[in-house]
Amino acid sequence: MVFSGDRRRFPALPAFPTYQLRCAGTCPTWPVMTAVLHIVGGGMAGSEAAWQAAQMGVDVIIHEMRPKVGTFAHKTGNLAEMVCSNSFRSDDSEQNAVGLLHWEMRAAGGLIMSAADAHRLPAGGALAVDRDIFAQSVTARLMAHPRVTVSYEEITTLPEAGSWIVATGPLTSAGLGAAIQAETGREALAFFDAIAPIVYFDSIDMSKAWMQSRYDKGETEQERTAYLNCPMDKAQYEAFIDALLAAEKTEFHDGETAGYFDGCLPIEVMAERGRETPRHGPMKPVGLTNPHQPEIKAHAVVQLRRDNALGTLYNIVGFQTKMKYGAQTEVLRMIPGLEDAIFARLGGIHRNTFLNSPRLLDDRMRLKSRPNIRFAGQITGVEGYVESAAMGLLAGRMVAAELLGQSIAPPSPMTATGALITHITGGADAKTFQPMNVNFGLFPPVEGMKGGRRGRKDRYKAYTDRAKEHWHAWLGQTALDAA
Ligand SMILES: Cc1cc2nc3c(=O)[nH]c(=O)nc-3n(C[C@H](O)[C@H](O)[C@H](O)COP(=O)(O)OP(=O)(O)OC[C@H]3O[C@@H](n4cnc5c(N)ncnc54)[C@H](O)[C@@H]3O)c2cc1C
Repeated sequence: MVFSGDRRRFPALPAFPTYQLRCAGTCPTWPVMTAVLHIVGGGMAGSEAAWQAAQMGVDVIIHEMRPKVGTFAHKTGNLAEMVCSNSFRSDDSEQNAVGLLHWEMRAAGGLIMSAADAHRLPAGGALAVDRDIFAQSVTARLMAHPRVTVSYEEITTLPEAGSWIVATGPLTSAGLGAAIQAETGREALAFFDAIAPIVYFDSIDMSKAWMQSRYDKGETEQERTAYLNCPMDKAQYEAFIDALLAAEKTEFHDGETAGYFDGCLPIEVMAERGRETPRHGPMKPVGLTNPHQPEIKAHAVVQLRRDNALGTLYNIVGFQTKMKYGAQTEVLRMIPGLEDAIFARLGGIHRNTFLNSPRLLDDRMRLKSRPNIRFAGQITGVEGYVESAAMGLLAGRMVAAELLGQSIAPPSPMTATGALITHITGGADAKTFQPMNVNFGLFPPVEGMKGGRRGRKDRYKAYTDRAKEHWHAWLGQTALDAA
């Protein structure tokens, strides 16, 4: 039969009443089925999506390629394997956007959070877990669920029919990657991220920086002032290059570099190629006049570009980097205007398969060209275990509602889950899209709250209080019908 995979389920569990396989003559690549949700990839997103949909009363088949087909980072055949750190980061739901995502997933009866809570390890304010027991517990709970089947097989083509969620993560297998590219176009699926650090606008010192596009290019005032510029004199530039060269860097993992290309050179590699190279690249000082000191020509200029429609986040253009996080913060704060910068995310370059979601997905995570296929998890351009699981939760609920004849709107952008989905499917600029982790810069500002470092505690509390209210309202639309 078409399903060549090793399908495991607990023998005593009832069969799916709605699941039908039809195969007459030459077997089709895809079985025809009714009211069954297929999920490709049983990682953080796929496991959470399966749980949510099954709890809502939908039969689910998870297609997971491990342990038959491995990746360079996964070590086991367990579902929801944590490939690196064993931390789900901050668990503070009042002052931290990741902690708020934890809270939202717990309120939605999330499997990933429930397994993490059951197997947590002491880690101060962070939620760290015993990774093996955590993954074994997610696997056991899904396999014990009467509506879930796990089929151990690699999927290498995109399905023609049925309801599907593709949640194959940063290490999507080559065969499926090629099939996705064939559907979306080569440019729309990246195999590496090249993340430039992102700064909160309200932490930038605008008495040193100014807004201007090179040569004042642009039709509108907004275009002519699209970039935020930070000037350096010669001494500042030389000290900055020394610090870049001396900073500690991370290495690529074994097997991670295949396909690495020159187009996303880390800024420190540019400096290694020649001390003047950055000054002829992303730090070139031409076409700009500093209104704070119009008579002085800057020796180099670091440019930042708006990163979201709200204008709360700016990325440092061309500053993708392999510097370690601690070193990165120190070096980047040497840039005039960024001395007190608060980073919404630090830079990096990783092996990471991700879609150009702002262009390809609708606000319900459906592929616009093939609405029977949803994407979830890191492949949609979110970053991290927690964010990926949250996108799985959302996709699982949305598709389950659809299969049950209902329709649910995406959650409000005032919630952490809603802020993320709004960013990746609309708020972010498709032309420069790079993966994003959850942070308060993605949230619509709370009226009347102070910006900058002052008042931050009150502001974050206001964001999280508002989010919790909106999340409860959204959950009301998709009540779980399972015991
Ligand atoms: C080397 C590395 C280190 C990382 N370190 C961290 C970290 O420390 N902290 C953090 O928060 N995040 C980290 N991440 C990111 C992390 O992988 C993701 O955040 C998270 O696991 C993504 O969840 P996901 O469900 O989207 O993908 P995954 O958890 O990777 O799950 C995807 C699943 O799909 C399966 N699959 C792939 N292709 C196919 C196919 N064709 N058919 C069937 N199954 C398939 C895979 O085997 C996998 O089980 C790291 C990523 C990498 C690559």
